[in-house]
Amino acid sequence: MPGCTVCGTDLGAPIYRSGRAHSLTTMNTLVKGETQVFFCDTCGHAQTNALPDLERFYAEEYEINLDGEDDDQLYAVVGGREVYRSEHQANVLADKIDLSRFRRVLDYGCAKAPTLRSARENAPRMEAYLFDVTDKYIPFWEKFPEPRYYAAFQPDPAWSGHIDVVLSFYALEHVAELNEIIGNVKALLRDGGYFYFIVPNMYANAADFIVADHVNHFSRASLTYMLGNHGFTDIEIDEEAHAAAFVVMARIDHTKAHGQTSLPDFAADRAKACELAGFWSGLTARITAFEAGLDAGLPRAIYGAGIYGNYIYSCLDQPEKITHFVDQNKFLAGKRMQGCPVVPPGTYSDDPAALFVGLNPRIARNAMAETFAGRALEFFFLD
Ligand SMILES: [Zn+2]
Repeated sequence: MPGCTVCGTDLGAPIYRSGRAHSLTTMNTLVKGETQVFFCDTCGHAQTNALPDLERFYAEEYEINLDGEDDDQLYAVVGGREVYRSEHQANVLADKIDLSRFRRVLDYGCAKAPTLRSARENAPRMEAYLFDVTDKYIPFWEKFPEPRYYAAFQPDPAWSGHIDVVLSFYALEHVAELNEIIGNVKALLRDGGYFYFIVPNMYANAADFIVADHVNHFSRASLTYMLGNHGFTDIEIDEEAHAAAFVVMARIDHTKAHGQTSLPDFAADRAKACELAGFWSGLTARITAFEAGLDAGLPRAIYGAGIYGNYIYSCLDQPEKITHFVDQNKFLAGKRMQGCPVVPPGTYSDDPAALFVGLNPRIARNAMAETFAGRALEFFFLD
């Protein structure tokens, strides 16, 4: 029985078990082991079991945007202009904290630190501190504009108690040793320094519930517990500034006694988490039932090479029977997904065949009717 990563309470029985031998990650790859999600009735935290195979996943597969300096994730298109995730993060950060007031700013788990790079353009006095648990970003850190300091694996002990602001973008959801990391952040901060971070909000994005590498699913209550327990005050949690995320800011008070923060009510979060468990369990049951009803010799493919298509793949009893992923994204054509070729709809020619459609239900039926008019395809839809 695992303990809560936030408050340490024994978590009891899971609210969700995937029932599958493999689990899906945020990189659309599979790790060995069943996904289980727990809900903590002491602090309102939801938690996924940390599968042993995640270590291999981080070593071999977890590479977000390692290819190039400007290779970023598109966040939104505003007025015809593309806004990338790090740019949006820098804008939100600038709204929340006037970084020109501070000198030493550290990005904890920074990767290539694109947000800090943007933020520094408006805060020329800033000394940038770059830290990550791997050394693979050092070539990027060396090119980061001076003054900058960096450390891999462990923060430099000389930084201890000297940092004005610690930033962290999409890191804490991956960490099973959460209290150790928050303790590290706290030790880096000078008294009165700020901790500013972004983590996903599972309650605003159903897919976050089933990804195996997101061990922590925070709520307003569990964030409050975690920060209060480590002596942070002036806790601000914003659910609106960044889509499907919590933007969190708090100030460290090194003199404050621990664990005295009152928690917001989390009964609605528990109900919503159980609802998500029901949604994913129901979906898995329908996928396997559809699969079981297919003629043994019928060719099978998955439409959609994103999270839903890969989730379908992870649920199949006979995934080896999938011959293709079909996707209209031209950047994916010619690549492989789960060992299968990704082909554009126009070149998928198996007929008759079964097609598992991993697309948003709002558009899926119309899209398939238009794309495959006149074809003898047996469709599975998510709704
Ligand atoms: Zn807890």
